[in-house]
This record gives sequence, structure tokens and C-alpha cells, in this order.
Amino acid sequence: NLSDKLDKAFHILKGHGKITEINVAETLKEVRRALLDADVNFKIAKDFTTRVKDKAIGENVLTTLQPGQLMVKLVKDELTELMGGDVAGINLSGNPTVILMSGLQGSGKTTFSGKLANYLKTKKNKKPLLIAGDVYRPAAIDQLHVVGGQIGVEVYSERENKNPVEIALNGIKHAKANGFNVVVVDTAGRLAVDEEMMTEIANVHKAINPQETLFVVDSMTGQDAVNTAKAFNDRLNFDGVILTKLDGDTRGGAALSIKSVVNKPIKFVGTGEKMEAIDVFYPSRMADRILGMGDVVSLVERAQEQFDEEEARKLQKKIAKNEFGFDDFLQQIQQVKKMGNMKDLIGMIPGASKAMKDVEIEDDAFKHIEAIIQSMTPKERKKPSIIDVKRKNRIAKGSGTKIEQVNQLMKQFDQMSKMMKMMQGPGGKQLMKMMGG
Ligand code: GDP
Ligand code: MG
Repeated sequence: NLSDKLDKAFHILKGHGKITEINVAETLKEVRRALLDADVNFKIAKDFTTRVKDKAIGENVLTTLQPGQLMVKLVKDELTELMGGDVAGINLSGNPTVILMSGLQGSGKTTFSGKLANYLKTKKNKKPLLIAGDVYRPAAIDQLHVVGGQIGVEVYSERENKNPVEIALNGIKHAKANGFNVVVVDTAGRLAVDEEMMTEIANVHKAINPQETLFVVDSMTGQDAVNTAKAFNDRLNFDGVILTKLDGDTRGGAALSIKSVVNKPIKFVGTGEKMEAIDVFYPSRMADRILGMGDVVSLVERAQEQFDEEEARKLQKKIAKNEFGFDDFLQQIQQVKKMGNMKDLIGMIPGASKAMKDVEIEDDAFKHIEAIIQSMTPKERKKPSIIDVKRKNRIAKGSGTKIEQVNQLMKQFDQMSKMMKMMQGPGGKQLMKMMGG
């Protein structure tokens, strides 16, 4: 797959102690071949490698200490740019906000309609209504009702009506009358692009004038995905792309080409059949995925930037003398926070992002912890063993948390202290060194 091939390309660089211009050219040729094999459009792949080459020359790759790493970084940056650079938001203006789904049959429109409604309900505090605009198969309406039932979102459907424009307009009317502030209109697709389907969706589009028209595409379909995207974009001028089935063994080529061919951002990805399997699309994370390595390099860089060597040495001494307390714990948390939010950090660890993908992590997962520690007296922070039930109750009250949360923190602290003692051992030395200690 693409990752393996890119890996091979970088191997050429990594294998050589000293890197020559020929190595760079060879690596880039491999990169281009890998992109082409992953169904990236020829011109895009060619432009891509040209840009990386120009940058490599501009940054004097050949004179740096670790040219291989720098090349990986240049390729990663370029991949990120190719996929849109920044995160593209979703437009939630309008009352109700009207969101229209488009795409081929089986691409994942109905599933994604549910995921999006659930996301808007739970993450954006919205009151969504699902509208069943796929009128050809009774099963399609049933499917949307099942989805709505799972997430507790109402579904508007008209079983006898075969006119999707009318249904969509009636659904929006229903939303206005009943206080729904977002509607998600699911539509029918065909197995391939055809005129009848295009006319139908274009008519719905014209009638309801959506704030967001989303094109849903199965990421496993490779270069076909790009052609389909083009056909839909010509008719609908859609606002964003949804890449589904990214949990499968996808080749990644679609994500790379779509943005540059239709010039529309990828907004969300689907990563499973469950309603929770939806993620905002982060171009840099997708680049990591394609490179298949997790962004270890920059994780280490950031760790080194943030961890003050002097502090790390002091900390080691404290751990050795069993003097590690809550003040130090708090300081550690603040260090970690400076490195970025937890989600991003986890995304940088190879393998971890996949293992953690179903775990919900708040951006400010440390808020409670900080509040609890701040409610401790200096003595308690220095000598946590004196914290008894009475003190715990006082701390919980003072920090606006529950005693279970205080207990949990005490446990975490205990584990961390133990782990830190372990890090003093032979294996841990390296880790501490990596962290700048
Ligand atoms: P539609 O015809 O465009 O409405 O597509 P559906 O929503 O009915 O999805 C088609 C099939 O793909 C169903 O079996 C879904 O469960 C499955 N599916 C949809 N999205 C995903 C995804 O992100 N990951 C996986 N693994 N399956 C998906
Ligand atoms: Mg459907």
C-alpha cells in the first residue's frame, strides 16, 4: 500500500549516511510512483514531487544533519497542504441550517446523515431533524428511521410521496414549526453517475438552497472517487466532501486528489459503521496516516522544546528521594499542556490514534485535576499520604468536584509516582533523555 511504498522511498534516504542529489531524485521518483499507485492523479503526483524537490533544494536538505528526517517532514507538509492545510468548518448559519447529502448509492450517505445529526446534537448542542429523501426503496426510509432511533433524533418521511423536492420542503416546514434548528436531508443515489439522479438532486438542491451541500464518497473507490466528485461538483457546486469507510484498508489516493481536483475541502471522515464513528478531517493527521508513522518526529521535537533540562534534572532527584508531590505533578501537567491538546498528542503516537479512536478525550481533560490540586494545602501537596477522607471531602468541595474524582486523582498520582520510579531504571533513562532530561 501507499504507506509501505513511501516507507521504501524514504529508506533510500535513511540508508545512506551521506545523502547525494541522486538519492533525493531517486526518493522522489519512488514517492511519485507510490502516489500514482495509490490512484493519485498523474499531474497532481508530478506537481507534488516537483514542489517537494524545490523545497528540499531551498532548505539545503543535503547539508542538514538528518536529511532523511527533513525529507519526511517536507513530504508530510506537502501532503497536508495538498489535502487543504487547515481544518474546514461546517457552516451552521440559517434557521434551520439546511444540510444536503449527495453521492452514489452505497457511499454511506444514510449512515453519515445519522452520524452528522448525532454529532450536531451531542457536540454542537443542536436540535436536528433527519429528512428521508430517498424515495425509491422503502427499505431506505426504514434504514433512516433505525438510525434516527439509535441516536434519538426525529426522522421526517412521507411513505406515499415519490417527489423528493416536496418531501424536503415539507420536512423543512416541519422543522420550522417544531423548533428544529438543523435539517439533514438524506437523498437517493445510484450505482453510477447518471443524468436522472443528477437532475433529481439538482432539483432538490435548487428548491431547498442548503447552507451545506456535502458530497459523500467511499474512500475505498480510488480514482473513481475523483471522477464522481467532479461530476457532482459540476452540477451542485458542493461545499465539502465526506470521506467514508476510512476504517478499511483504504489507499488514501482519493483524499489526496479530491481537494486539488474539485478544490473543495474534506470536512469529515467516517471511520466505522457505528454512529460515533465520525471525525472532523485533519489534513495533517491524514498525512500522518498516509505516511503510516504517526508524527513521532514532531512529538519528540515538541517534547524537547518544552521540557527544560534543568527542571528535568531536579525532578529526577526528587523522584529518587521520594519527594515527588502534587506541586510537581501539577507542573508536569502544565508542561504536557504546553505541548498541545491531548487529542493531537495521542494522534502523534504510532498505533495509539487507532487504539484510542473510540475514546472520547476532552480538550481540557486536565481542568478538574488542576482544580483539585489547587484546592489542596501546600502541606497536602508535599505529602499526599496525609490526605484522609475528611481532607478529601474538603478538597472536593473546594474544587467543585466529587470525592470519587479526588480519589481517582490520588490513584493516578500513585501510579505516576510508581511509573516515574521505574523510569529511573535502565530502560527509563532513555525515555527521560528523550524528554530532555
Ligand atoms: P448510502 O446508500 O449512500 O445511503 O449508504 P449507506 O449509509 O446505506 O451505507 C452503505 C454501507 O456502508 C452500509 O453497510 C454502512 O453500514 C456502511 N458504511 C457507511 N459508512 C461507513 C464507514 O465509515 N465505515 C464502514 N466500515 N462502513 C460504513
Ligand atoms: Mg441511503
